Amino acid sequence: MALLQIQGIEKRFGGLRAVDGASMDVHQGELLGLIGPNGSGKTTLLNVLSGHLPADAGSVSLDGKNVLGLNPTQLTRLGVLRMFQMTRVFNRMTAFDNLVVCGLALGLHEAQAYERAEQLLDELKLSHVMYLDAGQLSGGQRKLLEFGACFMVPPRVALLDEPFAAVHPIMKETMSEFIRRRNAAGQTFVLVSHDMPVVVDLCPRSVCMNAGKVLAEGNTQDVLQSPAVIEAYLGE
Ligand code: ADP
Repeated sequence: MALLQIQGIEKRFGGLRAVDGASMDVHQGELLGLIGPNGSGKTTLLNVLSGHLPADAGSVSLDGKNVLGLNPTQLTRLGVLRMFQMTRVFNRMTAFDNLVVCGLALGLHEAQAYERAEQLLDELKLSHVMYLDAGQLSGGQRKLLEFGACFMVPPRVALLDEPFAAVHPIMKETMSEFIRRRNAAGQTFVLVSHDMPVVVDLCPRSVCMNAGKVLAEGNTQDVLQSPAVIEAYLGE
């Protein structure tokens, strides 16, 4: 059984069908690319999955249990985490303390929170700024810190919406290496990105949406080479 089963999701904004009957499976341990031209409904679908938007129709199940209709806090507890919305950085706390507090809030014991915070800062190449206040970090470092906070307690599935947007190439590399390493260790991801080289590099399988529907899915290279997908991008 798929970890996340998404069936017939519909989301309308007035007369616009932003998501128009999209179905897909996310398997345990996979790094699934979610691609498609601008306005094809990717972000709206992630918002439905994370409980930030109610769906008009369809079903979503996690481990076979219905999770559609739960709010973001409930979904986060179950391990469906949409990044860059659930985390908050406190400017007048150090980078290290920000992670520790996040871990404590998620139920970690102190020693465990310290250990994970240190490890995450090391993995994200932020050890040299760990005792600086978050307010003193660069925009990219803050983004990495927020990103890291999501893994203090690794989610069942991490939904990433354009994580590399406006991130310096060096940090982008750090972030994609992190995603690759965590995925190799079993972490499940859904990655929405416009950066095709990164998607090709990271995601063995992708789903391409167009006009709210799934247009193609399968091996990422094959999906990108499919005539229907090329045509959809040309119309962008
Ligand atoms: P993508 O992430 O693939 O670029 P979106 O999910 O952001 O696509 O948008 C899908 C469609 O829904 C677009 O036409 C967009 O303009 C529209 N849309 C998204 N959010 C809203 C909203 N809150 N109100 C009205 N229309 C929206």
